[in-house]
Amino acid sequence: MTPFEFQRAADAQGAIAAAAAAGAKYLGGGTNLLDLMREGIEHPARLVDVTGLQGDIRETEGGGLLVGAAVRNTALAEHRAVRERYPALARAVLSGASGQIRNMATVGGNVLQRTRCTYFYDGAARCNKREPGAGCDAREGFNRIHAILGASEACVATHPSDMCVALVALDAVLHLAGPDGARTLPLERFHRLPGERPDQETELKAGELIAAVELPALAFSARSTYRKVRDRASYAFALVSVAAALDLGPDGRVRDLRLALGGVAHKPWRARRAEDALRGERLDADALRRAADAELADAKPLRDNGFKIELARRTLAATLLGLSGDRA
Ligand SMILES: Cc1cc2nc3c(=O)[nH]c(=O)nc-3n(C[C@H](O)[C@H](O)[C@H](O)COP(=O)(O)OP(=O)(O)OC[C@H]3O[C@@H](n4cnc5c(N)ncnc54)[C@H](O)[C@@H]3O)c2cc1C
Ligand code: SF4
Repeated sequence: MTPFEFQRAADAQGAIAAAAAAGAKYLGGGTNLLDLMREGIEHPARLVDVTGLQGDIRETEGGGLLVGAAVRNTALAEHRAVRERYPALARAVLSGASGQIRNMATVGGNVLQRTRCTYFYDGAARCNKREPGAGCDAREGFNRIHAILGASEACVATHPSDMCVALVALDAVLHLAGPDGARTLPLERFHRLPGERPDQETELKAGELIAAVELPALAFSARSTYRKVRDRASYAFALVSVAAALDLGPDGRVRDLRLALGGVAHKPWRARRAEDALRGERLDADALRRAADAELADAKPLRDNGFKIELARRTLAATLLGLSGDRA
């Protein structure tokens, strides 16, 4: 591991000032960044520990929640208001990693965790994300876990976070603070598709800090869930996942819904085409298939991951049918 400086920030301004140094990076729980440093993929000159910053969950005036970026994943999933009002989020977080890792991992670090593409972690492989212009060994390699939506010639990696899929379905908004001041940005617009520059993964500006994540009030959020399909029952990343929030009218027709897919793209994938196809419909097999077809119309399978298209269709349908069955 390359030597680095370590600083613990006492407040956001101190963190931003410390991170202005060349090669500085913020440090959350370290569960991803330290691995990447050990593998020689990241070599920050300075780590600015931000785990002592905003670490609580507050009610907002609008009836939502403001979750500090330093809140640990376990604390988020166990928080009563999260479990009761945003069950999709609690389930998504609990489906990720292991208890020990969730105890360390923070909300900010989870949003910024990097892909699990095996070639990205293999220093001997060609990877445009590690080294722009180098090529992408995943394209012609073993690409079972890779993207079916929104990928590019340059990169076919997926975003690994479960939490972010639920947050995108719940219309979460990031609170960012940086050298140029504070701003907010919907999480849906934060992660980028790979395009020509898969190394540029988010809209975060140089030195900017994730301060908090805001969950807006959702009238129907109690009927939300997260379903993750993976190779093992625990301790595995999603092959495909679905976060859904559903509001059914008394006639059984969809009044409103929010859908996002994980494991399919370089970013958590808000499934707006499927949402549009289902509004006003009954959740029967035909409507669900039409919605999935609309969402997956542009899916482009690689050699080893064609199964993800049918898996996404079935997971979407099973998630929504399960939610509609929860009605009293
Ligand atoms: C074995 C294993 C299995 C896992 N399985 C899953 C899984 O199934 N699902 C899943 O979703 N995740 C999984 N994870 C990933 C885990 O969720 C992430 O490692 C974790 O969420 C990262 O959080 P952290 O606080 O440790 O981030 P760190 O490792 O500290 O940081 C990650 C990145 O975020 C940046 N950062 C941290 N905080 C801030 C901030 N406030 N502002 C700006 N930048 C910041 C850092 O600079 C770094 O670039 C797994 C991890 C491991 C090791
Ligand atoms: S898919 Fe992306 S992360 Fe994986 S090897 Fe190709 S460029 Fe690198």
